[in-house]
Amino acid sequence: MKDAAGISYRGGWTMLPAGTPYEMQLVHDHIQRLVSQYGDIDLRLNGADWVVKRPSGEPPNRCSMCGVGLGKLVYTRSLRNLCPSCAKHSLR
Ligand SMILES: [Zn+2]
Repeated sequence: MKDAAGISYRGGWTMLPAGTPYEMQLVHDHIQRLVSQYGDIDLRLNGADWVVKRPSGEPPNRCSMCGVGLGKLVYTRSLRNLCPSCAKHSLR
């Protein structure tokens, strides 16, 4: 579905609107809460599948785009690990 984020986590599934920057921010805030509460989540956004998780401490522990050290959340797609800031841009 276009302009919608499907999020599946342990024990549930939810869909949120993701058509505007504000809605995207809400999606990311929601993901952050879910990951801290439930662990890894699967995200489907505009036909792309992502996994969002907390860093495991294993390499690579730096963002594939900007090289920043990965903090609380890692967005993974096709073996690329992105920080939340880069993920917000490339998810569009
Ligand atoms: Zn980055």
